[in-house]
Amino acid sequence: MQSIYNYSEEMLKEYLINLGLKPFRSKQIIEWLYRKKVKSFDEMTNISKDFIEKLKEDFYIDLLKCVVNQKSSDGTQKFLFELSDGNLIESVLMNNDYGYSICVTSEVGCNMGCVFCASGMKKKLRNLETAEIVMQLLTVEKVTGIKITHIVIMGIGEPFDNYDNVTRFMKIVNYPLGLEIGARHITVSTSGLVPKIKEFADFDLQVNLAISLHAPNNDIRNEIMKVNKSYPIEELIDAIKYYIDKTNRRVTIEYILLKDINDSRENANELADLLHGLNIYVNLIPYNEVIEKPYKRSTKEAMQAFFDQLKKRRINVQLRREQGGDIDAACGQLRSKQMKKEENN
Ligand code: SAH
Ligand code: SF4
Repeated sequence: MQSIYNYSEEMLKEYLINLGLKPFRSKQIIEWLYRKKVKSFDEMTNISKDFIEKLKEDFYIDLLKCVVNQKSSDGTQKFLFELSDGNLIESVLMNNDYGYSICVTSEVGCNMGCVFCASGMKKKLRNLETAEIVMQLLTVEKVTGIKITHIVIMGIGEPFDNYDNVTRFMKIVNYPLGLEIGARHITVSTSGLVPKIKEFADFDLQVNLAISLHAPNNDIRNEIMKVNKSYPIEELIDAIKYYIDKTNRRVTIEYILLKDINDSRENANELADLLHGLNIYVNLIPYNEVIEKPYKRSTKEAMQAFFDQLKKRRINVQLRREQGGDIDAACGQLRSKQMKKEENN
C-alpha cells in the first residue's frame, strides 16, 4: 500500500499493463487526481468497480496534515506539515506579480552542513518520497484555494541528494493532463553536487537550474559550505559549463551576501572573473539571520556596492527582494523553532 501520488504517468501505465488493462486508463486516473482533485477512488466514475477495488488495495489518496499556517503581511504564507511518521517539513507559498509560487522541501533535514543555514542544523533523517513532495503542493492548494503556477525546490534539503524522487516529482507536476506546471516555471537549487548537475543536463524537462555558489573562491567556500571539500569551485564551474553547453540554458547563480565574509568589492571582482563569459545570471540574496548562527546580513550599502561592481563588470545580476521576513520564511527556520518548542515541552 502506498500513496498514488508516488506514481508518474509512466509508472501508472506500467502498472496497468501488468494488470492486463488498457494503458490509456492512466490518463483518466491522472485527470481525476490532479484536475478534479478527488479524495477517494470511488469518485472515479468512468472506471470499473473491479478496477477501483484493485486500486484501493494498492494505493491510498491522502494529503498532508497541516500543523502551522503563518501568514506574513506581504502575502507570503508558511506551512508546517506533519508526515505520517511524525516528522515535520515546511513549504512556503509566495505571491508574485506573475502568480503564486511554492517553495517545497525535498528531505527531512539536510546533511550538507552549510554553516549559515538553519536547515542544516538538523541532520538528514531520510529522503522525502515523491508523494510527500507532490502533497506539499496539493495540500497548500487545498488549504488556501489558490492555484499554484510556479515551483521552487529550495526548502529544506539538498534536492540532488534525493535525485530520483525530485525528478519524478517534476515529471508529475509537469504532466499535461495533470497539474501542467510548465518546466520553465520550475526551479531546482543545488548546493553543488557535481555528478548530479551533469546527470541533470540529460533530464527530459527544461527545468531551471540554480546553483548555491555563495563564494568567489575555495577559501571562503570551504569555510561556509562543506560540500566544497568534495566538489571544489573549479569542478563546480566545469559542471555548470557542461550543463550550459548541453542544454543551452541559462543557469542562476545564488549568492547570499554575508557581512564581512563574502561581500567586499574584491569578492565581487573575483566572482566576476569566475563567471565571466558564462550564460548565467547572479541572484544576490540578503541573508536571513538565524539566531543560533554568528553570521550577519550585509549592510544595504555593501549589497548595493557588490551589485554595482558586478554590473560594472557586465555580469547579469539582480538583488532579490525579501519575502516573508516576519514569518521565519528563511529555509528551515519554522521547522527548527517548532522542534525546539517540542524539545522544551
Ligand atoms: N539545498 C539546496 C536548496 C535549498 S536552500 C541549496 O542549498 O541550494 C535554498 C537557498 O536558500 C540556497 O541558495 C541556500 O543557500 C539559501 N539559504 C539557506 N539559508 C539561508 C538564509 N538563512 N538566508 C538566506 N538564504 C538562505
Ligand atoms: Fe542544505 Fe541547502 Fe541549507 Fe546547505 S543551504 S544546509 S544544502 S538546505
